[in-house]
Amino acid sequence: MIRIGIPRALLYYQYYPMWKTFFEELGAEVVVSPLTTQAMLAEGSARVVADTCLPVKVFLGHVLSLVGKCDSIFIPAVRSVKNNVYNCSKFLGLPDMTKAVIPESPPILDIDIDINKGKRRLYQNIYKLGRHFTWNPFKIRQASLAAWQAYLNYQKLMSSHKLAPPEAVERISGTLKPERNASFSDSTSIQATIGLIGHPYLLYDEYINHRFIHRLEQTGHKVLTPEMLAKEELESAIAGLVGKAYWTYEEEIVGAGGHYLQNGADGVIGIMAFGCGPDSLMMDTVHRQAARLRTIPFMSLTLEEHTAEAGVVTRLEAFTDMIHRKKRKRVEACV
Ligand code: SF4
Repeated sequence: MIRIGIPRALLYYQYYPMWKTFFEELGAEVVVSPLTTQAMLAEGSARVVADTCLPVKVFLGHVLSLVGKCDSIFIPAVRSVKNNVYNCSKFLGLPDMTKAVIPESPPILDIDIDINKGKRRLYQNIYKLGRHFTWNPFKIRQASLAAWQAYLNYQKLMSSHKLAPPEAVERISGTLKPERNASFSDSTSIQATIGLIGHPYLLYDEYINHRFIHRLEQTGHKVLTPEMLAKEELESAIAGLVGKAYWTYEEEIVGAGGHYLQNGADGVIGIMAFGCGPDSLMMDTVHRQAARLRTIPFMSLTLEEHTAEAGVVTRLEAFTDMIHRKKRKRVEACV
């Protein structure tokens, strides 16, 4: 059985159930890299120039961790998944960059995804990918349909049950611990609700964000993330803030930020990656909106490989203290 490696980084958080289903339907075994560690980040960083963005360094560390553990590594080049809305250039060149900087990598299975080139081209590319496993076009079609359904189920699970991607993956694989989800069912124990915005590969990689979500939850905060919103909510917030989207990630930053600034959160935190151009532009849009509305506090935090845990904890505590003070004042003003 062919073993396909999938790095637990970048687009993994959005598409893992879809990719897994596709390869398994075609008879392959899927091997996922382990959780990020300091050694993985250090090894990934050593392969590229210093000002490469943090998530790409992490990604390369994950690829390195798969060397010797699989027969091929799946690295798609995702240019666009929506008409005239584009991914950042790092995603387009990912397979080529990986080949160049990690020559010892197992063969890379890549596919170009660009919806702007039309459905016909997309199907051809999927078929080309499927041919690595079978010459039977019907089998490839079946695998693509099952994969697409897995993706839709995954999205629905996250938005309807307010689950973050790692929890949704655990739920799908049947390993989600019941207490993980039940911890906020008693609303009296919630100190405040925090809207957390940013790319999934920053929000859910606990090594690079120093267990940000876990820290908030441990101190009695409910955390809402972009994946917990329905597509329509994200699109309507984007339309209100910037009109037409240009970047794919506008949903997870501008859309979620615009939504949580006005609905359901006591404060919003934006997590950005050092070295990311699109992030600085989009986070600034949310920042300006927060300043305009003056409804709830907003804080942005930039992560890089040298970000100290103590610095993250201090800023988090200062921010949540401010939210609690604001909430107390509101209560006092009402009595
Ligand atoms: S969007 Fe930013 S953080 Fe993500 S890959 Fe591109 S440059 Fe890196």
